Amino acid sequence: MPDADGSASLRSTRSTCPYCGVGCGVIIDSLGERVVGVRGDPDHPANAGRLCSKGATLHLSARPDTTAQVRALHPKMRTARDAPLARCDWDTALDEVAARIADTVARHGADSVGIYASGQLLTEDYYVLNKLARALLQTNNIDTNSRLCMSSSVAGYKQTLGSDSVPCCYDDIEHADLIFAAGANPAFAHPVLFRRIEEARRHKPSQRLIVVDPRRTDSARAADLHLPIQPGTDVALFHGMLHLLIWEGRVDAGFVDTHTEGFEELKRIVRDYAPDTVARLCGVDAADLVQAAQWWGESGAVLSLYCQGLNQSSQGTAKNSALINLHLATGQIGRPGAGPLSLTGQPNAMGGREVGAMATLLAGHRDLANPVHRAEIARLWGVQAIPSRPGLAAIEMFEAAADGEVRALWIVCTNPAQSLPNQTVVRRALERAEFVIVQDAYESTATGSYADCLLPAASWGEKDGTVTNSERRISRVRRAVRPPGQARADWAIAVDVARRLEARLRPGHCTLFPYSSPEQIWNEHRETTRGRDLDITGLTYAMLEQEGPQFWPFPQGSHGGRARLFDGGVFQTTSGRARFASPQYVAVAEPTDARHSFALTTGRLRDQWHGMSRTGTVGRLCGHAPEPCVQLHEADLQLLGLEQGDLARVASRRGAIVLPAQASEELRRGQAFVAMHWGEEVFGGHGSSGAWFGINHLTLDARDLHSRQPELKHAAVRIEPARLPWHYVVFGRVGGARWLSLQRSLRAHFATFDYCACVPIWAGDDADGALLLRAAAARPPDPARLEAIEAQFGLDGSDALRYDDARRAVRRRVRIDGARMIGAALAGDRATLRAEAWLREWFDSGMPLQLTPSQLLSSRRPATAQPSRGRVVCSCTSVGEQQICDFLQHFSGAEPESALREVLRCGTECGSCQPELARIAASIKRSL
Ligand code: SF4
Repeated sequence: MPDADGSASLRSTRSTCPYCGVGCGVIIDSLGERVVGVRGDPDHPANAGRLCSKGATLHLSARPDTTAQVRALHPKMRTARDAPLARCDWDTALDEVAARIADTVARHGADSVGIYASGQLLTEDYYVLNKLARALLQTNNIDTNSRLCMSSSVAGYKQTLGSDSVPCCYDDIEHADLIFAAGANPAFAHPVLFRRIEEARRHKPSQRLIVVDPRRTDSARAADLHLPIQPGTDVALFHGMLHLLIWEGRVDAGFVDTHTEGFEELKRIVRDYAPDTVARLCGVDAADLVQAAQWWGESGAVLSLYCQGLNQSSQGTAKNSALINLHLATGQIGRPGAGPLSLTGQPNAMGGREVGAMATLLAGHRDLANPVHRAEIARLWGVQAIPSRPGLAAIEMFEAAADGEVRALWIVCTNPAQSLPNQTVVRRALERAEFVIVQDAYESTATGSYADCLLPAASWGEKDGTVTNSERRISRVRRAVRPPGQARADWAIAVDVARRLEARLRPGHCTLFPYSSPEQIWNEHRETTRGRDLDITGLTYAMLEQEGPQFWPFPQGSHGGRARLFDGGVFQTTSGRARFASPQYVAVAEPTDARHSFALTTGRLRDQWHGMSRTGTVGRLCGHAPEPCVQLHEADLQLLGLEQGDLARVASRRGAIVLPAQASEELRRGQAFVAMHWGEEVFGGHGSSGAWFGINHLTLDARDLHSRQPELKHAAVRIEPARLPWHYVVFGRVGGARWLSLQRSLRAHFATFDYCACVPIWAGDDADGALLLRAAAARPPDPARLEAIEAQFGLDGSDALRYDDARRAVRRRVRIDGARMIGAALAGDRATLRAEAWLREWFDSGMPLQLTPSQLLSSRRPATAQPSRGRVVCSCTSVGEQQICDFLQHFSGAEPESALREVLRCGTECGSCQPELARIAASIKRSL
């Protein structure tokens, strides 16, 4: 809103963070149509003003110079498969989308169309897409990337509690005596919640934390007890704990008798899970297992937190149910501090569950397989019927497209060419589908390059609606600025396609999509919840405006939502009793063997989120874990003959990729870890079977029978040295946000090399972008290729110092401006690349340095070069690991972490680095 003098005044808008399921409230500061800042909302109950490193930098991802490089700004179409996308107007794009979908339905039936959406959509967006698929197209082929995230949680809750109802809330963190985190690393994945756990433990020293995780993550290091189980053995562990609880007489017999059923059958199963057996299966000490069961049994209130470690598994439902069994057997549910709290990875995975926008569900927590539920929804929507044919879940949808059965794919707000397992099949699906619609805020994603039609969508700060966080709390999402270019809200795009389709498929009946605002859509959604476990008929947009976020259920006539469920011991089953599930432990779908002897697991980085399409645009978030790598135990590294940073070939039964190897204290022998974020946007290469793309070239699509969630957390791999003698690195300042489009254009070179990664360099300045490309190959490529790459970094001019030895394929380019380093390129064997270390230190320092040309082209570090600050640990203050270690080496006081905060200022802002600061302080103390 401009002032009287034409200038814009600062406006503050309350909204929600678009990343993880904690659902933190944010205040967006904007000037005119520009987001200029973001703060934690002190009044939002999920975070009380706190934000993590990702949430606190949201405004940087919304800068106009960033937006111009990566956002989808205009509708685009392709005239032929090999033609480039060309800009068109909205009417042309929407008419074409409706015509192609209608034509596909006419020729091949409704099930030849698949809609694949996202847990990042708002509830209103989901609702329209869901109705469009089921009521209008008459197909149940609608699923979302929440299938990769929490569908096993849904199945686990329904199997045991009778409904997809999270029984507890974040306030239970303070009430709990024991927090049991299984398959979750909240220090990285849900940082604001982890800050809350840290604080609760400070105020209540008797509160215990147990972490179950194959890796010794920052969350595990902070725990009183870490159970480093072998991947996939969670069911055995939980059964083993129940075995001990029964043996020790810690079962709440009154609760079991009055409020549950099926305990005798479960007792029979867990009889076989004696401590020694379980310790052997899980790879943990029997004493630790006994300790965990004892702490569980003696705690007044036990809260379990769990996430992808349980969900992303071919036994995901069994793992969820086996954990819930422990709560039911000990009566740890329905009271303060007690219950199983599934943490969602995405901001609105819960909203998707509520509107039923997943192939197996229906609106209002109904089941597609239930004819009564289908009839209820058909009546509410005013259509004759909801089709009974089961819909295709995510993996099946892409398999069907690869097989030619699904012919039109509409992909909304997600990046399957990065995130789905077994990318060979996914890529075949995207190539074979006759029409691929990509509706996204970002044009830069790997999936974007497969679009036949690109529909530009609004993103965070630009749209209105609601989301539900992990604790069932509904928050308003508010628009602070207009979307850039011609981008539009997802619900509005879906409504415009739906109306055009309705005119073609139901001529004369254009009534299904009368919406002109998100509130109208939400009001209709609200009606689908009437009488259901998530009934919100007592809630309105106006109440959310006036009174802030609210829990569901909130039925008509009530005075508020309910923080906890099942406090009366009545569950959503036919009998009203909770049901014990009795799964047997089943090993991972792909066990290791002599040929594939490493257990590969995947997980999150602290400062990145999903496929990095947003967080990967913020330079300061790229300093903590700058380059893709495979982590291994130090002894395995040695056994393989690898040194830190050497390239390793990691091969699964589906493909092979190359990655730098890194020693990690987090892993046990025989384990390997690669972060899930790294996709084709960042790294790739050429192997014996052609080009490869990111980590999901290795992962497998085996899935859980009930939840259909794939086993992204485990694959058996073979690891060996990559034996690539020729190495290449080029880096430089490229000015402002131009590095983003440069990073994208450099992807075209990836397949030239056997390994190639292209990542931003964080040099402590948000406005001064810099990029690094690292590559390796069995044979040096054509020098003209390298000249083309170096030209993009400005290293081709006469002002760059040059050295070439064509016989040895050695080359160097160094460009300085005055005495300031601008960029460099080095190629040759590993010895040639030794110069990278000091050139990078000089580059990162930004300091002037007077050197002769021969010094500049030498591998030897000049005595006057600046020392490095090391890898960034605190991304808010840009404090590096070396700075922290140097400080602590000379610190002799009692409280090193307070001293670090006081002197270096690290850890003083968002707090995401606090667990790592504690870890470094402890390790320096041990070494002194
Ligand atoms: Fe966003 Fe971080 Fe809060 Fe998650 S914990 S909602 S990523 S600010």
